[in-house]
Amino acid sequence: MKKILVLMILLLMGRAEAAGWSPEIRIGILSGVEQVTLKVSAPCIMIDKAKNETITKVPAERKFIVKVPNMDFDSIEIRPEKIPLKDLKTTIDEHEYFGGVRLNKADGKLTVVNLVPIEEYLRGVLPEEMSPSYPLEALKAQAVAARSFALKNRDKHRMDGFDLCATTHCQVYMGDKLFETTDKAITDTRGEILTYKDKLIETSFHADSGGMTENVADVWGRNLPYLAAVKEIIQLGESWTVKFTAKDFSSRFGENFGEVKAIKLSKLKIGTAASDRTVSGRVRTAQIVGSKRTLTLEGTELRRKFSLPSTLFDMELKDKEIIFTGYGRGHGVGMAQKGAKSYALDGWSYKKILEHYYCDTKLKKLY
Ligand SMILES: [Zn+2]
Repeated sequence: MKKILVLMILLLMGRAEAAGWSPEIRIGILSGVEQVTLKVSAPCIMIDKAKNETITKVPAERKFIVKVPNMDFDSIEIRPEKIPLKDLKTTIDEHEYFGGVRLNKADGKLTVVNLVPIEEYLRGVLPEEMSPSYPLEALKAQAVAARSFALKNRDKHRMDGFDLCATTHCQVYMGDKLFETTDKAITDTRGEILTYKDKLIETSFHADSGGMTENVADVWGRNLPYLAAVKEIIQLGESWTVKFTAKDFSSRFGENFGEVKAIKLSKLKIGTAASDRTVSGRVRTAQIVGSKRTLTLEGTELRRKFSLPSTLFDMELKDKEIIFTGYGRGHGVGMAQKGAKSYALDGWSYKKILEHYYCDTKLKKLY
């Protein structure tokens, strides 16, 4: 009887641990540094990755510095001795992260990688990617998008020795700014990802569509059927205006352009295509007539050159000024965060929000 009881307790413990499990990912925190200060919240072991052997034990709550000249191994890992990885916290310089750490040494420099279960990683991502004050269903949609993105892009930094970086290049990740609202959105959608024909999708998102999202092919050239342009309930948000003097504007095109004489671009009507506009109305190309030559520029090029919030704009030459008037913020592909917020306030569930922005996709629970 006693044996059966012990067995049952062990089984229950195993199940409890499995219930908290999620795939481990590796996030690049620092690279090209000569030393790093570390501290772990619970007793750990240090492992030589080449031999997969334990080198030494690491005591809890004691700061220590790893310097390149004192490091005898090319790659070491610090992992908890007894508790699950998700329950460990590691302080890397001044920031605290969930999980452990790997240090890779190459060319006399260190790469510092946070080893973290994806659900704990998301707790450090979500507040950076969407305001924690947004309604819960919008935050849940963002949680699914961020989780899918992380799993889909795991080989993005393979050459650097980790999966994803912690900047806008991948997803902004700060380990130690946690919020109840974003944590709840992650727990409520635990393990859920978005799929198209049973395959994990590319969940691009942006701040504000301005009235209609964009076909991915018109922004990045490749066609993904689930990243298609969709209309928003709110057709016109607040517009933005960016102005340049004709002189400043012309100077950006070099000396052989001369002075700007005219702009040739059809009038913006959101959700209406034209020969020079995409299906959402974003600028495909615009002609800029100069005193010495005429240029045909792509909308994305203009956006970059003049730091415009989006490519959904009108452009005119008036009183020796170039005036851009537009809508939306960001590239326009996939989920619009401002739209997700208004739908959530309107009573939409996160599933409905995701279905709206990622066409014909299905939500799937991985674990
Ligand atoms: Zn990156």
